[in-house]
Amino acid sequence: MGCDGGTIPKRHELVKGPKKVEKVDKNAELAARWKYCALSQEKLRRPIVACGLGRLYNKDAVIEYLLDKSAERPNAEVVAHIRGIKDIKELNLTDNPEWEGDTTNAKGDRYEDIHCGMFICPVVGLEMNGKHRFCYLQTCGCVFSDRALKEVKTEICHKCGDPFQDDDIIVLNGTKEEVERLREKMEEKRAKSKTKRWKKLRDHCNFL
Ligand SMILES: [Zn+2]
Repeated sequence: MGCDGGTIPKRHELVKGPKKVEKVDKNAELAARWKYCALSQEKLRRPIVACGLGRLYNKDAVIEYLLDKSAERPNAEVVAHIRGIKDIKELNLTDNPEWEGDTTNAKGDRYEDIHCGMFICPVVGLEMNGKHRFCYLQTCGCVFSDRALKEVKTEICHKCGDPFQDDDIIVLNGTKEEVERLREKMEEKRAKSKTKRWKKLRDHCNFL
């Protein structure tokens, strides 16, 4: 059985429509991760913080969560790994001079270009809009494009001059695999500091 005209629709004709829509949504979703707080879903505004998994948040949203973890929240699982203020780092971001926020088009409608980044890389000027990889340094909180960190090899921060090591570089909004790796790293670090604290306590007790 075919269509009335006697043609049988090819597979790519059938799947073309919905596939395209999905792709647009996916792009918008990816771009939104750079514009909205991962917890409150409100627009990102300074002070902006990041966690060990490279997610972006408004600092006040995370503080509010830490003050009352039991309150009902739609995105509570996103911050389940944040146990205290030490698990977040305030970011030192560089404003994008091109950013105009909400703009008004010819018809008078307010719209926002989701692909225009609020911030840029201070070294190479790339926009932080989801199209380029960005990282932050856990030591000082400064944010750079991955390209800058790769092209200009350095052990002191390009922006503030603080020393850092490769281990201090956290990719922002990384892939699923990258987030998994960051999670492992975070757990490793926690286990280490636990042992350290335990040893300290033991030494203290021996001393007594
Ligand atoms: Zn820095």
